[in-house]
Amino acid sequence: MNEIPGYQRRHSVPVKVGHVTVGGDAPVVVQSMTNTDTVDEIRTAIQVADLARAGSELVRITVNNEEAARAVPAIRRRLDDMGVDVPLVGDFHFNGHRLLKAVPECGEALAKLRINPGNVGKGSRRDPQFAEIIEIARDFDRPVRIGVNWGSLDQDLLSRLMDENARRADPQPPEAVMREAVVVSSLESAERAEALGLPHDRIIISCKMSRVQDLISVYQDLAARCEYPLHLGLTEAGMGSKGIVASTAALSVLLQQGIGDTIRISLTPEPGGDRTQEVVVAQEILQTMGLRNFTPLVAACPGCGRTTSTFFQELADEIQTHVRERMPEWREQYPGVESMSLAVMGCVVNGPGESRQADIGISLPGTGEKPVAPVYEDGEKTVTLKGDTIADDFKVIVERYVER
Ligand code: SF4
Repeated sequence: MNEIPGYQRRHSVPVKVGHVTVGGDAPVVVQSMTNTDTVDEIRTAIQVADLARAGSELVRITVNNEEAARAVPAIRRRLDDMGVDVPLVGDFHFNGHRLLKAVPECGEALAKLRINPGNVGKGSRRDPQFAEIIEIARDFDRPVRIGVNWGSLDQDLLSRLMDENARRADPQPPEAVMREAVVVSSLESAERAEALGLPHDRIIISCKMSRVQDLISVYQDLAARCEYPLHLGLTEAGMGSKGIVASTAALSVLLQQGIGDTIRISLTPEPGGDRTQEVVVAQEILQTMGLRNFTPLVAACPGCGRTTSTFFQELADEIQTHVRERMPEWREQYPGVESMSLAVMGCVVNGPGESRQADIGISLPGTGEKPVAPVYEDGEKTVTLKGDTIADDFKVIVERYVER
């Protein structure tokens, strides 16, 4: 992790999810979720592998019926055959207790169970179905994420808190009671799970909200009231830039306060869109905040009237793509390469300064000037590239820098 002034990670109890640790001093873990039909074990295994190769350290799959439960061990075997060791998390709603009893191999193949206390049984932690699924997790020695979602909240609990609020001398707004209900649901469910024999270090909590300020408030509250690791994510974040911006805004505030041990960015993909985008966004949030390094990031200026040709944007895009494509090999051969910084700048106004700050940078000449582009390595100008081969020549220089 880079030096972050004033940063202090919240204390949490580390939880092992397969070979991945969530919480404690472990780096904030990136996770994602498939959107394939789990019954289609080939497509699901391929998507899990794609997500894992993109950098997802845990992958969740929905387990919604018995066929899906039967597919889970087959998916695990396929992943093992592909050499993909990412831990699988089973997402259960309504009937998880029945599925895990009917197909015990499913529980064995999963590294963690996600349950929603708002829809286990009749939607209360007091329901026998809640006890059943917790006892299964305990017997399999699997951690559980108690994943409360404000859209499927324990209605008994909400009514109780609303009644208590109505009797108060200073009743709170309904939204505040809702936020309190989300937090209490997760904490009372965790308490009940421990009473049923699930060890303290087998519990992770999430409280997903769809509004940024609600999410921040709920997690700040949770962070102060427990020491379970916290899974962060804005639910129903939305499509495109809206989903990315909302998730980034919410998670950045919390991460900066040391809150959050694993993150998932819930983006609605374009039809047929690439599911791995949510992994890239999660990594970029953590990396731009200086919490982790995954891939050398290319700093680029926005461009302006000094750069009326598209060459500058093309070069920035080409270099970022080149770096991403080369990373799997670089990561194996050159440990630490992920912390390298690059800059592709549009002109002499900020180009030389920014390029000198990066490990390796290039400053293009802007418009109407001669096509010459000085390259800076470790703050020193090393060469000036010219002509039509600037992009290819710069890639060669980047490769040599990485090798060094
Ligand atoms: Fe414009 Fe040059 Fe600044 Fe880039 S560095 S935004 S091209 S003035």
